[in-house]
Amino acid sequence: MKRMQKSKQISVMFLTIFFSILIMGCNPGKEEMKQELVKFIEKFESKVVELSKEANLAYFEATISGKDEDYQKAADLQVKLSKIYANKEDFALLKRIKESNSITDELLKRQLDKLFLAFQGYQIDEEKLEKIINLQTEIEKKYSTFRAEVNGRKLTDNQVEEILKNSKDLVELEKAWIAHKAIGDVVVDDVLKLVKMRNEVASELGFKSYHQMSLKLNEQDPEEIQKLFDELDQLTLPMFKQLKNDIDEYLSGRLNVTKENLMPWHYQNRFFQEAPKIYSVDLDSYYKDKDLVKITEEYYAGIGLPIDDLIKNSDLFEKEGKYQHAYCTDIDREGDVRVVCNVKPNYNWMNTMLHEYGHAVYDKFFDYSLPWVLREPAHTFTTEAIAMLFGRLASNPKWMKDVLQITDSEMVKISEDNFKSLRLEQLIFSRWVQVVYRFEKSMYENPDQDLSKLWWDLVEKYQMLKRPEGRNEPDWVTKIHIALYPAYYHNYMLGELLASQFHFYLTDKILKSNDLKNQSYAGNKAVGKYLNDKIFNVASKYYWNDMIEKATGEKLTAKYYAKQFVE
Ligand SMILES: [Zn+2]
Repeated sequence: MKRMQKSKQISVMFLTIFFSILIMGCNPGKEEMKQELVKFIEKFESKVVELSKEANLAYFEATISGKDEDYQKAADLQVKLSKIYANKEDFALLKRIKESNSITDELLKRQLDKLFLAFQGYQIDEEKLEKIINLQTEIEKKYSTFRAEVNGRKLTDNQVEEILKNSKDLVELEKAWIAHKAIGDVVVDDVLKLVKMRNEVASELGFKSYHQMSLKLNEQDPEEIQKLFDELDQLTLPMFKQLKNDIDEYLSGRLNVTKENLMPWHYQNRFFQEAPKIYSVDLDSYYKDKDLVKITEEYYAGIGLPIDDLIKNSDLFEKEGKYQHAYCTDIDREGDVRVVCNVKPNYNWMNTMLHEYGHAVYDKFFDYSLPWVLREPAHTFTTEAIAMLFGRLASNPKWMKDVLQITDSEMVKISEDNFKSLRLEQLIFSRWVQVVYRFEKSMYENPDQDLSKLWWDLVEKYQMLKRPEGRNEPDWVTKIHIALYPAYYHNYMLGELLASQFHFYLTDKILKSNDLKNQSYAGNKAVGKYLNDKIFNVASKYYWNDMIEKATGEKLTAKYYAKQFVE
């Protein structure tokens, strides 16, 4: 025994020495890895920085001119850019460096992590990728050329929405809703094929499903996301039940139908993703003679985040052939940030202007001394959160008082209804996202299950709508995002959660108030300074949940969303 013990001791000693030598021997390798990474990043930047600027500019110009040749130029540059990320040897090198676990420098390690994921997403068999893109394009065409047919009349999506919102004719409502659902049969086979192709690609890259892959490549831990959605479900359920009952009572009176007989086509929206108009608020009237650009510019200047330079480069009004929606683009990660809008003096565009310039200030105030790879928002949903934080103000009575100079009595008069409609909007949207998120996750886990049943089970459970009796149609695929923008929808909800978390922190810690409703931040430069220092400046130097924790003292949680809209 004793001898054994001794010989063991010797061998342990020997091993210790052996490993010390090994570890010492590793040091030069470690330095080598570091140098290799530094060299790689230099070479990568020399290829990508100018090209991505060109591609961003080309896209911006195409959306303004609407010309085919401009769009073609933008698409060609995009292809060129994607080829950089698809390079197999480069990915192999990144993989080797990553697996060596030898990068300790914080900024280098963060760049390595981001580059690795960015390249990984492009390591798909080229032939398969092309097939996927072609099928997507075909499906996209089918969606955009589809018209719902009611009584021989062909209707656009907008016209269907108009009928659902305004008609009180029960037959017309049902017909319009069902006619729109006919797109399901047109695309379902292709979309199912696409879902399976996406899954195949994911499995080749070592992931369980396409859904799991998408989350992981976007630095989202599937379990963490699931937990947030479960938390949100619990927090919103009681209030949603109550509000759903209010809606049912209102609609039952408006349409002269008993509550038990209310059907999905009675809820004023194809998917019940937006709130029916049950409160009397007319926000448009407050904006009809206002200069929305000036309001936005002055408001952001007031909180210490001036945007006059950005407005100069932006394109804010309607033009022939121009893109009809709104977006913000960071051209060069050096302060050339532009917004595209089609401003009209109404509530929606006020919300949109505040929203898009929320994205814009985030990008404008990056610390430009950070490496190029890290000069991005911490995550797409963190920039969405900032945009939402500001967009929400357009219906906030205190903001309308401070910025539009409505009177005190006017503010009091609209206060309650404005809050109620914002709350209704939020809760309805949050229950709808539960359906989409859970559906996509389950569909990619098992695309061969009865998807029509899965869809209606979720709609019944989370939105509390009634399944039309005996209905067995691919209604899930009538939502275009499920087919064409996969595994992304949940980010809108995460953005809302984080907007509330930031709002709570600003109110509590910066404004030192416990009134979450009556805050406009107007004229308060400390607000801009906080956002700048803690969120914008650090860009994606930290993993998104670390950034949130550093900025608010907590990881992302649904708690403050509930505080703002449920309690
Ligand atoms: Zn946005």
